[in-house]
Amino acid sequence: MKTIGVLGGMSWQSTQVYYQLLNEGVSARLGGLHSAKIILYSVDFDHIERLQHAGEWAELGRLLRDYAQRLEAAGAEGVIIATNTMHKVAPMVTPHLNIPLLHIADCTGEVLLEKKVRCVGLLGTLFTMEDTFYSDRIREKYGIDVLVPQASDRQLVHDVIYGELCLGTLSPQSRQRFLAIIDSLAASGAEAVILGCTEIGLLVKQTDTAVPLLDTTEIHALAAVDWALKT
Ligand code: GLU
Repeated sequence: MKTIGVLGGMSWQSTQVYYQLLNEGVSARLGGLHSAKIILYSVDFDHIERLQHAGEWAELGRLLRDYAQRLEAAGAEGVIIATNTMHKVAPMVTPHLNIPLLHIADCTGEVLLEKKVRCVGLLGTLFTMEDTFYSDRIREKYGIDVLVPQASDRQLVHDVIYGELCLGTLSPQSRQRFLAIIDSLAASGAEAVILGCTEIGLLVKQTDTAVPLLDTTEIHALAAVDWALKT
């Protein structure tokens, strides 16, 4: 089994889910007392969030490159960045590593292909929904059309992520709002919706809606388990 390097803490609310899913995934596959081999580098998210909202992406790229290199030096054989948003700087990280980085949008794209989805909705931070690094990758690499919510809904989703979910607050009112936005994406033609922020799965579950959901935390963690167990 290979050692998985996890670059987490963005936020820690979802990193703890990754930790659980990685271990459950290995245990389900190998049984008994088996568990995942993990090295975790968990950041202070306050610093990261300030740089994101100040548009300091070059500095964020340098930071993540440094953290990922520390994971490699500590013995990680591959790295996952446990957030969708921070994949915006993945191109600044991968060229400086000698180990693979499992890109969250690629793991999601593979599942979309398997499920034969041709048009998908995307929920996430404003960075993920409005920049090109995520949706263009799904469009260009996997040939799948990506829809995002209208501007006011995008802002609402973003504000709930930073103001509630990353702080561990799960409000029934926000859940209803997210479900209404998921419904409107489906009404616009989305055959499924990507929960493209690693905390959204804490708030919205597949049992809450008939629209097929792709929880990126789950998909990414399971892809890392597959990778770690591949000989
Ligand atoms: N975890 C979130 C994501 O998957 C948002 C927090 C962040 O900005 O990294 O995008």
